[in-house]
Amino acid sequence: MPHTPRPRTRRVTSAMLASAVSVCLIAASAPAPAVPLGIGDRLFPHLGNPGYDVASYDLAFTYPGANNKPLTAVTTINAQAKGRLDRINLDFAHGIVRSVDVNGEPASFTGAGEDLVVTPEAPVSRGTPMRITVRHTSDPVSAKGQDSGWVRTEDGLVMANQADAAHLVFPCNDHPSDKAIFTIHVTAPDGYTAVANGRPAGADREGRATTWTYRTEHPMATELAQVSIGRSSVLHRTGPRGLPVRDVVPTKDRKRLEPWLAKTPGQIAWMERRVGPYPFETYGLLVAQAQTGFELETQTLSLFERELFTRSTNPKWYVESIMVHELSHQWFGDSVSPRTWSDLWLNEGHATWYEALYAEETAHRPMEPRMKEAYEASDSWRATGGPPAAPKGPEPGQKISIFRPNVYDGAALALYALRQEIGRPVFERLERAWVALHQDGTASTADFEQLASALSGRDLSRFFKAWLYGEKTPPMPGHPDWKSGQATK
Ligand SMILES: [Zn+2]
Repeated sequence: MPHTPRPRTRRVTSAMLASAVSVCLIAASAPAPAVPLGIGDRLFPHLGNPGYDVASYDLAFTYPGANNKPLTAVTTINAQAKGRLDRINLDFAHGIVRSVDVNGEPASFTGAGEDLVVTPEAPVSRGTPMRITVRHTSDPVSAKGQDSGWVRTEDGLVMANQADAAHLVFPCNDHPSDKAIFTIHVTAPDGYTAVANGRPAGADREGRATTWTYRTEHPMATELAQVSIGRSSVLHRTGPRGLPVRDVVPTKDRKRLEPWLAKTPGQIAWMERRVGPYPFETYGLLVAQAQTGFELETQTLSLFERELFTRSTNPKWYVESIMVHELSHQWFGDSVSPRTWSDLWLNEGHATWYEALYAEETAHRPMEPRMKEAYEASDSWRATGGPPAAPKGPEPGQKISIFRPNVYDGAALALYALRQEIGRPVFERLERAWVALHQDGTASTADFEQLASALSGRDLSRFFKAWLYGEKTPPMPGHPDWKSGQATK
C-alpha cells in the first residue's frame, strides 16, 4: 500500500477476554466460554488464531447484482490441528453465519469479539486434517465506524483487506503468517465480469449468471486476497519469459488506460533485472472506479484507484513509480510476507526503495536528494510513528494508521544507509538472496538482519539496532553532514 491511506475508522471491540477469564476461575468444571483469541501480534493482538495451520481456502461468493446487498457465500477451510482443539477460533466479524460443518458433521458456533468460535461434535486431535465449511453472508456495506474489506465501486466491488479486514469478508485465520492456497468462485449476473487472484480455472454459465473460478498456484496471505466484480474488460498481454499479464479495467476506460497498462511488461523486466524472476503465475492491474486514497498490492492483481491515471496533475514519472511500488510488493510483501505486522517496514521500505530507484533510473529523479530529505524528516517520523521495525500501534479506531512515513521513506532510508554501509554489490546480492530464500514464505526483521550479516561477512547487529529500533536517526554512512530533526513532513 503506498501513500496517504484513506482515513478509516473502526469500532473497537474488546473487554470480553477479561470477564471470560474470571468466569473460568469460578466454575472450572463448566465448559469454558467462547473467547476471542489471537496469535499475539504486537500491533493486532486479536488477529489470527492459535492451534491450527490453514492449507487452503475455497471461497464461493454469489453477487446479487447490487453492491449494497450482502453476498451469499460458502467458505471451506482445509487446515491441520497443531494440538488438541476443543474449539476452533476463526476470525470473522461482518456477516451472518448460517451453519458450520467440521469434517462433514454439523458444529455449533458463536461469535466472540471479532472471532467465530466453532465447537465440533468431538475435539479434534493433533495432526488431524480439518475441513471446516461455513455458510454465511458477506456484507459489502460497512458497519458504522468499521473498516470494510469490500470496497464498493461505481460498478460493483473490489477488495482491500490490508491489514486486518479479510475477516470482514470471509471466515479465516486472518494473519499473514498463515498463508494458504486459494480457490475463489464468483457467481454474478450477466453483464458482470468477475476476476480474482491467480489464474482462471473455468467459467460456467447457468441461466442468467456465470460462475468464474480462479486458483492461486502459490500460497497467499488473507490480506492479499482480491475479488473484482464489475462492468469490466480483461485485457491480456505477455510479459518477460512468456508471463501472462492480465489487467482488469472498467470497459469504458480501456482505451484511455492502455498507454499506462502497456508499461507493465517493461516494469516487470526492470524488476527482474534487479531482484530475479517474477515470483507468481501472472500479474496485472485492477483499476477500480472508487475513491480509495491508496493502491494495494493484492497478489498477482494489484488494486489501483482509477484517478491515479486520470488525474491530469499527476506527473508521468510519479504514476510510473507508483506502478513499480505495487509491482515490487509482489516480491516484497506478497511472495515474502511479514511474519508479524511489526515487520511491515520490510514490505513498504522495499517497495518505496524500488519506486525511488525506478524514478532515478528512468526519470532523472536522483535517489540522493530524496534520501537527504527523508533524513531531515526521519527524527520527526520516528517520534510520531516509532522506529521502522518497532512501529507504534494503530490509532484507536484507525487500524490502517500503522501505514505511516516511518515505514515508507523512513524505512527506505534505512535501506539506503545499509547500501552505504555494505556497498552496492553486496546490497544487490542481499536483495536477490532475500526474495529467493524466502519465496512463498514469511520472514522477519531478524531474518533480514541475519542474511545481511552473512552476505557482508560482518556482524551488523549494532547497525540494525540503531537504524531499525533507535528513537533517533543514526548518522548516515558517507554523509556525516546530513542532519535530522530540522524539518517536519
Ligand atoms: Zn506499499
